[in-house]
Amino acid sequence: MKYNVDQELCIGCGMCESLSPDVFKVNGEGKAEVVGEGDGEEAVSSCPVSAITAEAAQETTAAPAETKEETAETAGGKYVCPVCGYVYDPAVGDPDNGVAPGTAFEDLPDGWACPLCGVDKGMFTAQ
Ligand code: SF4
Repeated sequence: MKYNVDQELCIGCGMCESLSPDVFKVNGEGKAEVVGEGDGEEAVSSCPVSAITAEAAQETTAAPAETKEETAETAGGKYVCPVCGYVYDPAVGDPDNGVAPGTAFEDLPDGWACPLCGVDKGMFTAQ
């Protein structure tokens, strides 16, 4: 099986490399890259930001596009931190960090990050 790593999504946590060192390696820029072929299924399912896709299955390559559409459709809903599981709920906002209840995820300030683990807003996914 061949795999692809979406470099924009990868946060360089090293999970894939520790699970499948023959297939994945985190490079000097802190991004995982594919270095060989082998069984990387566990890494695919363990990647916290779903940056790894299997190349052979065309259904798999189509899936991320559908996910993006869903993300657009669910705009205004709850968003989940891929690392610690914190859920941003627009109805609650993030008052501790100056975000009033009723603030849509899309309207969060650019510098806003996960209040629990500090992951960038751009890493969040729609719930
Ligand atoms: S597990 Fe995912 S986020 Fe972590 S280094 Fe590998 S590809 Fe990047």
